[in-house]
Amino acid sequence: MEDYDKREKLKEFFLKIKNCEECELSRSRTRFVFGSGNACAPVMFVGEAPGKNEDLQGLPFVGQAGKLLDELLNSIGFDRSEVFIANILKCRPPGNRDPRIEEINTCKGYLLEQIKIIDPKIICTLGKFSTQLLLNTDKGINTLRGKVFKVDSRIIMPINHPAAVLYTPSRMEILKQDFKKIKMLIDSDGEVPACEEDVLNLESENTGDKQNKDEQLGLF
Ligand code: URA
Repeated sequence: MEDYDKREKLKEFFLKIKNCEECELSRSRTRFVFGSGNACAPVMFVGEAPGKNEDLQGLPFVGQAGKLLDELLNSIGFDRSEVFIANILKCRPPGNRDPRIEEINTCKGYLLEQIKIIDPKIICTLGKFSTQLLLNTDKGINTLRGKVFKVDSRIIMPINHPAAVLYTPSRMEILKQDFKKIKMLIDSDGEVPACEEDVLNLESENTGDKQNKDEQLGLF
């Protein structure tokens, strides 16, 4: 799709879903948080759900975790306007509780459509929820982070959620290293570099838990 078409399609999609009332979160939200950034970005970052600041401003990752995300992006020469940032849920769960499976199931189609329109070469999943959703697995983030997966001819790289790193600063160095790897993937234009050793075959990685997860989340 041409860049202009992607922008138009994404705008059209935003207008179509911005007043969503498909689940209860619509009743407690202040703003619907569609996501923000460049519709033609080569890389997309996917978090969990809006928090308090995001709910107030209608923008993703604008609180403390967002500040860290901005710094990490800057450290590899990017500004947030050059990537696309979204969440699985578009409305804030009250009290920042974890997203519920029913909420993920209700909302995930919006994220999948955003991915389809933007068609990024690389998706970085931030934390457990988006990683498990997009890799269709039950495996934990600590097992998956920093690894590179090829799914539907695009790269998915799970990393720790910046908010989790703010709680556990000892993980900061790992997150910084993972951003260097993201930069390498972007520089290789979404091709897996020959030196990359932990490209994993999703099918063999998921054997055993895939069916369970399919049933849980009603995926694909
Ligand atoms: N955490 C998320 O997962 N998303 C946001 O937008 C903010 C914090």
